[in-house]
Amino acid sequence: MSFIVPNDNLNEHHCPLAVIKCIDFRFRKSDQEFIEEALGYDKFDLFAWPGSGKEILNDNGFKTSFIEKVVSVSKNLHGVEKLLLLWHWDCGGYGGSKNFSSAEEEEETYKKDLLRAKEILAKELPDDLEIIMAYSRAHPQGLEYIIVE
Ligand SMILES: [Zn+2]
Repeated sequence: MSFIVPNDNLNEHHCPLAVIKCIDFRFRKSDQEFIEEALGYDKFDLFAWPGSGKEILNDNGFKTSFIEKVVSVSKNLHGVEKLLLLWHWDCGGYGGSKNFSSAEEEEETYKKDLLRAKEILAKELPDDLEIIMAYSRAHPQGLEYIIVE
């Protein structure tokens, strides 16, 4: 059995953005929509891992491998100029929303960890790779994406 899917990207070699995000299936489509519609990128290298980049904070082998691949593949082969750290609401890597006493606490934790991850990565990634950060939070109409300044 085989299945044919049209793909007109095969001869492209340049991609402006790399993303690290959680594997959580509930956020796959909305994360992609945020990246495409709000940030304006229809092409990006995707690093998906449970808990997004939370493990970077442990300063372990994951961090080392991640940095090595971002540089050798995304930056050097694909010409990526920006790296997006994307966290999400109710992340199982944090025990879910139920593990926080309030929405404010959950949000503050994500913001703090995003900034710490950025700081750790910035020390080892090339200076011309810009690191940007965002997270999603629950909203009556679905999800609200916040870009961290
Ligand atoms: Zn998650």
